[in-house]
Amino acid sequence: MADYQYDVFVIGSGPGGEGAAMQACKHGLKVAVAERYSKIGGGCTHWGTIPSKALRYAIFTMTELNNRTMLREAGLTVDLSFPQLRQSASSVIKQQEDMRRGFYERNRVPVYSGQARFIDPHTIEVGESKGAVEQITATNFVIAVGCRPYRPPDVDFTHPRIFDSDSILDLSFTPKSISIYGAGVVGCEYSSMFRNLGCKLNLVNTRQQLLEFLDDEISDALSYHLRETGALIRHGETYEKIEGLDDGAILHLKSGKKLKTDIILWANGRTGNTDDLGLDTIGIVPDSRGLLTVDKQYTTSVPNIYAVGDVIGYPSLASAAYVQGRAAALHITGDVSSAEQLANDIPTGIYTSPEISSIGQTERELTMAGIPYEIGHAQFKSLARAQITNRRVGMLKLLFHRETLAILGVHCFGAQAAEIIHIGQAIMSQPPPNNTLMYFINTTFNYPTMAEAYRVAALNGFNRLF
Ligand SMILES: Cc1cc2nc3c(=O)[nH]c(=O)nc-3n(C[C@H](O)[C@H](O)[C@H](O)COP(=O)(O)OP(=O)(O)OC[C@H]3O[C@@H](n4cnc5c(N)ncnc54)[C@H](O)[C@@H]3O)c2cc1C
Repeated sequence: MADYQYDVFVIGSGPGGEGAAMQACKHGLKVAVAERYSKIGGGCTHWGTIPSKALRYAIFTMTELNNRTMLREAGLTVDLSFPQLRQSASSVIKQQEDMRRGFYERNRVPVYSGQARFIDPHTIEVGESKGAVEQITATNFVIAVGCRPYRPPDVDFTHPRIFDSDSILDLSFTPKSISIYGAGVVGCEYSSMFRNLGCKLNLVNTRQQLLEFLDDEISDALSYHLRETGALIRHGETYEKIEGLDDGAILHLKSGKKLKTDIILWANGRTGNTDDLGLDTIGIVPDSRGLLTVDKQYTTSVPNIYAVGDVIGYPSLASAAYVQGRAAALHITGDVSSAEQLANDIPTGIYTSPEISSIGQTERELTMAGIPYEIGHAQFKSLARAQITNRRVGMLKLLFHRETLAILGVHCFGAQAAEIIHIGQAIMSQPPPNNTLMYFINTTFNYPTMAEAYRVAALNGFNRLF
């Protein structure tokens, strides 16, 4: 057998790369990582999840304070600009980066700095374009290079009024109005943030429904609550062109509509970071969006080269990237059964207002599959905890098999939805007969809590059975 420098070489230090590197080194494999950005942590830490969630929290806190009757009556308001709110993310980013760097240092995993490119299936070169380049060999590779916003060539992203989801983080003023083109997760999350900041908002959706992969009731609730805050949502539209002006930008739609706002945020599509990876030299062909195809073991068309995270497409979540990285490493070690269990049933967390989270099947999927199911609902407004905290918007919905009572899907929107979902996930992931609605009916929940929603929803559903 050939003598390679490393057992596993990981390209990219985002959650996908970190999951793979840490899992592989815990199994005693010799691991190294390449990262082309000056800091560890990937897009997740520096321009995706962490900055956007920290910004959301800062906006949410300001809005909540300004809505407090006591402060309003005292004539007190907090009025921070977009850059000031954005600034609040920097300390979180630093903490995250320091912590993640520590993982590599403690586990003695070297991090090579620079762009990695394949030379052959067991050799890679890493280095800056004008600096020193080092050749490294490994038995296996894990590609975890992430993706970036798709930039159509006819849109001028150098214009100071036209942004994508990376450049919006550098917005230097608070706009009074914004058009967001693309109503995927990123478009919907930024819509909620800018509405909460008080901006006039057009959300332009190229599809007919918001976040079509969600249960219809949850997707409808998001549309309803966004509209209730004053957002203008247009479905089934396609852009004709985007025109930058000195005082704003115009979104021209193929339907003939024109939307003029202070700024435009392009949030339509992402491209895999595969263009400068030397994939042509090893015969791996990305699709038209730069994404890689893998099998259930996360192997590409080259057996010793794996790919995980955003670069393999849906669900494009940090949480998913991390478990996919771990699963790829487990496959490399030969632990196939743990690997398969890991990447099953990944929950969705969407940080809109209201927050959304779900796991398992939707009503649409169950109906199409002909599975006999029943529904249990709990409205947050009827929970004591939600009344006390004045966060009454929301609902928990349980879908369960009407004969076995097994939980088939959990769908939630409202405050803390992304946390609440995990209670349902814990029961749903039990083997039969422990995955059962009866758990929620026969369990004592602290009072008052949001977790109580599970008992309310379970009883609501159970009472529908005959
Ligand atoms: C605005 C926004 C908000 C989001 N919010 C959430 C959220 O709330 N929850 C959630 O779960 N997910 C969220 N996501 C998605 C999440 O950020 C991604 O799913 C996650 O970052 C993917 O991880 P990854 O490891 O695949 O890639 P990344 O985190 O993008 O990391 C890839 C790394 O590879 C490096 N790299 C690329 N090419 C090379 C190369 N050739 N050589 C060396 N290094 C290279 C890059 O510099 C980068 O550091 C959000 C994304 C965006 C854009």
